[in-house]
Amino acid sequence: MNHMARPSSQTRPDLTDVFAYVDARRQEFIGRLIDYVRRPSISAHGIGIGEVAEYIAGVMNRLGLESRIVPTAGWPVVLGQRADAPGAPTVLLYGHYDVQPPDPLDAWLSPPFEPTIRDGRLYARGVGDNKGQHLAQILAVESLLACRGSLPCNVIVLLEGEEELGSPHMPAFVRAYRAQLGADLVITADGPVHESGRSCICFGVRGVVSFELRARGANRDLHSGNWGGVAPNPLWSLVHLLGTMKNDRGEITIDGFYDNVEPQTELERAALADLPVDVAAVTQELGLEHLDQPRDRPFYDRLSAWPTLTINGLHGGYGGQGSKTVLPHEAFAKCDIRLVEAQTVEEIFGKVEAHVRRHAPDVEIIRQGGMDPSKTPIDSPFTAPLRQGIIAAQGEPPLFVPAMGGSLPDYVFTKILRLPAFGVPYANADEANHAPNENLEIERFITGIKTGAAILAHLGAMQPA
Ligand SMILES: [Zn+2]
Repeated sequence: MNHMARPSSQTRPDLTDVFAYVDARRQEFIGRLIDYVRRPSISAHGIGIGEVAEYIAGVMNRLGLESRIVPTAGWPVVLGQRADAPGAPTVLLYGHYDVQPPDPLDAWLSPPFEPTIRDGRLYARGVGDNKGQHLAQILAVESLLACRGSLPCNVIVLLEGEEELGSPHMPAFVRAYRAQLGADLVITADGPVHESGRSCICFGVRGVVSFELRARGANRDLHSGNWGGVAPNPLWSLVHLLGTMKNDRGEITIDGFYDNVEPQTELERAALADLPVDVAAVTQELGLEHLDQPRDRPFYDRLSAWPTLTINGLHGGYGGQGSKTVLPHEAFAKCDIRLVEAQTVEEIFGKVEAHVRRHAPDVEIIRQGGMDPSKTPIDSPFTAPLRQGIIAAQGEPPLFVPAMGGSLPDYVFTKILRLPAFGVPYANADEANHAPNENLEIERFITGIKTGAAILAHLGAMQPA
């Protein structure tokens, strides 16, 4: 554990036999992906969860990963492991076997749990998010074992069943199983590759905290002529309150909001500047004239390096046809804040709450879900073997993404287990995860298996310092 390594002195493993093995089993591997994704495992509805946990634990056991199902206060975790390489790093492969609900069903061209291949893509709920991606990692282990008889580094596979619910029990799970999760690094294959189609290594994710604001006026809706100017209007209360939270220059004006935003490192700045983007094409595709304020902020800085405050919904009064001169008696706003390192959910929710108390003490604030951000330094000793593994399997170096815009529970690894955590996604950028017609390009699935194997081989070839 806490294996120190000097990647610059590593030897390049030859993977010709493993890549040939994967190519020779292409049809069989596609068939096994189809068999996995045709089994629903919808965590939100509690459908198929236990069956699919059993199924994937069985797959892992048969190929030589000693696996078991571990109960949690929610849906179970599947935990597998194999320690073949004393002295080599131990990598924890994280994924999730649960999927999003498939609704709306009538928007699917083929039913969500009847996997169908069209134009080189497999269409099924969960094929990209996340079954096809962690199955690729598992088949990478199988291919290495078939070709070599043992693994080049030690592997722990952790598949949870509640990622699509926000991973509510992962913090308690990793605390309770800290001893069994003794790894040197974490790799997650989830989410899409970069928008440009280039593969990437993600070093972090933004966090998120959601909250609702509730404003109340009179005890019932009133006539705006008879009571307007007499009874306060809760919609105005929310509009004024929200107006104090962000100015028209795009700055969040909640006291102390930016206090813990870490400045970018040189490597992060360089990585962000390297990410390809055609801003004109993006704005055109979105039907926009320009990007949000501040106008001069570079595109990927917005998604990676800065927090945001989004009003998700503002409700109250009348929104139907024609006019209704009503003075509504209640109003609601739902908001989320995307957090960057080293902001925390506790810190930022506390600051929002204090802000609401000061500016609109009658408005109620209700905390909803939250997840801390996570970041691993780009100059981690594991970056080089991951990069080399991707080049070996794909022939092209990956882009480096300092932090993804969305949120994943990586903080349980970086903050609770104090391990470096890397995202190495395999899915196409248009995988339509969480949407109808979710799909995975078959070529990316096959390349994902090779990439997974090459990364394990390169980690195993790290020279102890
Ligand atoms: Zn998802």
